Amino acid sequence: MTRRTAILIGMAGTVLGGIVLDLLDLIAFKALAVSLWGSTQTAFTWLGGSAVMSRWTLGLLWLAAFIVLFVAGSLVFAWVRDRTVASEFSAFKYTHDSFHGLLWRWRWSSDGSIHTIVPFCPHCDMQIVPQHEGAYRAVAPLVFRCEDCDVKHYEVPNEVSWDEVVQDIQLRVQRNVRRMADEAARTPAENT
Ligand SMILES: [Zn+2]
Repeated sequence: MTRRTAILIGMAGTVLGGIVLDLLDLIAFKALAVSLWGSTQTAFTWLGGSAVMSRWTLGLLWLAAFIVLFVAGSLVFAWVRDRTVASEFSAFKYTHDSFHGLLWRWRWSSDGSIHTIVPFCPHCDMQIVPQHEGAYRAVAPLVFRCEDCDVKHYEVPNEVSWDEVVQDIQLRVQRNVRRMADEAARTPAENT
């Protein structure tokens, strides 16, 4: 046998070996595919079959389903509530504003009403105690004067009382809250 023949036989052997291996691979793949298909069929047959179970087992399954529904519902409810609280909280954070040339501060009650409405000087932030200035104090106009700046920032007409001024501020605050709520509803993405 010449060296050349030996090389040729060697090459032929390698090619044949490769083909045999490929065939074996194909057979193995087919076997796997058949096996998988068989398993799937078996699984479907098993799933499609009837099962005998006691009523309490069935009851437990229903209970589990109800628990899953309840938990999912609670999560959705909490999510919606948190979003609502978040939007209300932005109103609760609104605790000061300028009205009638004065700075007003107030506090929120948990029921959504405002109280402790107090005016401050817009220049020096000194609290202002409104007083009736005039000869007849009972009927004199209510004046909002900063004692530090000695500036009269606001004067209400004679017949307007402090309670009416407070009510006026309440109404203005509530109007602004409504506007802010509308604004937040229009742009929910910025509110989160
Ligand atoms: Zn002042």
